[in-house]
Amino acid sequence: MKPEFRIGYGYDSHEFQPGIPLRIGGVTIPHPQGLGGHSDGDLLLHALTDALLGAIAGPDIGSLFPPSDPQWKNADSAVFLCEALQRVKTAGYELVNLDSTLILSAPKIGPHAEAIRKQVAGLCGISPDCVSIKAKTPEGLGTENAAIASVAILVKRIS
Ligand SMILES: [Zn+2]
Repeated sequence: MKPEFRIGYGYDSHEFQPGIPLRIGGVTIPHPQGLGGHSDGDLLLHALTDALLGAIAGPDIGSLFPPSDPQWKNADSAVFLCEALQRVKTAGYELVNLDSTLILSAPKIGPHAEAIRKQVAGLCGISPDCVSIKAKTPEGLGTENAAIASVAILVKRIS
């Protein structure tokens, strides 16, 4: 018998670059810099995708969607999240809740947290009550030019 609950944890970081859109949790946030690297640079959706894949001990996001593959350049990270959600379902589980922490010096996430929460809840098909978006500044980390996300999730066996 499969366990009734499993936890998942995901982590991601991206570097700020001028002149590209800033996407966090599927929301475009007004800011002079965006996050470069893989796809649209949406580190929250990447960490969430890895947390979902981790909960079912699946392959990680980099294995499923290699950054070296040109088809994922500027891709909407919701595509990665949808694949992870589908794999969780196929494994016989569903997402219960998620708890996230963003670490970045700017912009302030507070004014956008509710929009991010609603967007992520919508993408996952769960209530916004089950989505936590927390943000901190990188005190003492020396990561002022980067954004970091960590996400913990719980999945429940589908009965
Ligand atoms: Zn990423």
